[in-house]
Amino acid sequence: MQLILKDGVTEEERKDFRKKISALNLLSFSILDGKNYKITIPSCSEKEIELLDNKDLVEDIITISQSYKLASRSAKQSDTIVDVEGVKIGGEKSCIMAGPCAVESLEQVLSIAKDLSEAGVEIFRAGAFKPRSSPYSFQGLGRTGLEYLSKVKQQFGMKIVTEVINIETLNEVAEVADILQVGSRNMQNFDLLKAVGKTQKPILLKRGMSATVEDFLMSAEYILAQGNNQVILCERGIRTFETATRNTLDLNAVPLLKKMTHLPVIVDPSHGTGIRELVAPMAFAGIAAGAHGIMVEVHNNPDEALSDGMQSLTPDQFKAMYNTIKKIKSVLA
Ligand code: PEP
Ligand code: MN
Repeated sequence: MQLILKDGVTEEERKDFRKKISALNLLSFSILDGKNYKITIPSCSEKEIELLDNKDLVEDIITISQSYKLASRSAKQSDTIVDVEGVKIGGEKSCIMAGPCAVESLEQVLSIAKDLSEAGVEIFRAGAFKPRSSPYSFQGLGRTGLEYLSKVKQQFGMKIVTEVINIETLNEVAEVADILQVGSRNMQNFDLLKAVGKTQKPILLKRGMSATVEDFLMSAEYILAQGNNQVILCERGIRTFETATRNTLDLNAVPLLKKMTHLPVIVDPSHGTGIRELVAPMAFAGIAAGAHGIMVEVHNNPDEALSDGMQSLTPDQFKAMYNTIKKIKSVLA
């Protein structure tokens, strides 16, 4: 349900009204959207709504038919812009998150971050804790990796996005991360979603490899329902019968999600293709389809990378791609 408050409702009246909602123990989410305050209550009974239907304050009550209540466009018509200490995701400018799949050494991250920050990239990506399909593959440097990422932050002033794979390490990861990444394999780890929802950090939620668009939004809803509305969605490819590419990048999802939700949507053409030569063309396609940005893997020595070298760009390849993205953006504007 959503209560649309009248135009002239004062701050004081709104506070009192919210107290009434709190007394009913209802989860609620209130925003100024357009010129009206809207209070969305994802789950409540007819009786509770009757109690809240104060004709002096409430102009209209609407039902949100979608199962993802807070994430839906009905809950909020204007686009959400996630603000990572001044770096905005969801606005007009394309947001670029780039860096290696995993932190491998201090020299490696500093070398890549230097090239990327000189190219104008503001958000550095790299995993310290890696959720690998095989237990025998490189699992990431863990805590040491986080330390190296904090050095990148110090030296280049870049924002850090890095993956959190469990609740046990959430606090440590959150100390370094400006954006917490929840990976594909954890998209339906509901306890983890609730835990990251309780932090005040922006969350990058990657689509599960066999998740429908609706499953994806329901996972975002788990985070929003905890009071954290800083969620960025990332389309990273899904499993299909096609095995010639690592995944099938579902670019339909980009304009579809933008219609269904107010949350920003970015595309990861690295995991979406698994093949270096396909990364730039699919990044261009993602931007042309309306994505608010891209997340891309870049390595200073892809052939020697400890993970995902086949889909990693060299810094020079990245720069060429980034220049073309800027041109595409200027045509779309
Ligand atoms: C990653 O970004 O390195 C990663 C593991 O991605 P995904 O969760 O999409 O597989
Ligand atoms: Mn990777």
